[in-house]
Amino acid sequence: MREEMEKRNREMVSMLKHRGVIKSETVERAFLSVPRHLFVPEEYASYAYEDVPLPTLKGQTISQPSIVALMLEELDLKPRHRVLEIGAGSGWNAALIAHIVKPGRVITIEIDRDVAEFARRNIRKMNLDNVTIIEGDGSLGYEAEAPFDRIAVTAACERVPEPLFRQLKEGGKLIAPVGSVYSQMLTLFEKRGKIRAREILPCIFVPLRGKYGTE
Ligand code: SAH
Repeated sequence: MREEMEKRNREMVSMLKHRGVIKSETVERAFLSVPRHLFVPEEYASYAYEDVPLPTLKGQTISQPSIVALMLEELDLKPRHRVLEIGAGSGWNAALIAHIVKPGRVITIEIDRDVAEFARRNIRKMNLDNVTIIEGDGSLGYEAEAPFDRIAVTAACERVPEPLFRQLKEGGKLIAPVGSVYSQMLTLFEKRGKIRAREILPCIFVPLRGKYGTE
């Protein structure tokens, strides 16, 4: 079982490299070290290495591998970065980020208690001590640990919640799916005095809830 999953993971990583989605050795190593099948409900484990989103709990999802890889590449993560993620979901993206930035830290916020517990259980399977899962409204950011070098929003928002830009370091990058509930544009923001935005590609995420969310 484990060997079969490792083989499928390697095949998926080769496909993502071939398509030019995985570009860096850092992202490649993270994908190989943080197996996605450990982050999906057992009944979906056999689909873990297909390039599709899968259900986690309560209508929420674990994102599609190619979108996750693209977000990680665009964020240009470095060791020692302090990273905030909004929407822990399965915990997979947070674990990948933690792998790349160690000994830096990842704080990931999840609004749904059961999903937060699911993420916690999944992360415990990995040998990572630099991820903190907080149950709460991530649209407020996480003032207690701000500012952050990087922020990844993994739920759809009509506009990026204002607190997140404030909690981003000067020179920092933030990635978010921006748009309506039905379709968004994955957008990379950079804070250099003012905020500059670059559109990357259309995508679909589940909606961001909470005070500055859209639902
Ligand atoms: N990054 C996840 C996928 C996230 S799916 C992964 O790697 O699996 C989006 C998640 O955002 C859902 O679990 C949803 O419950 C959560 N969410 C929605 N609004 C939120 C908010 N305001 N704060 C924190 N989490 C939120």
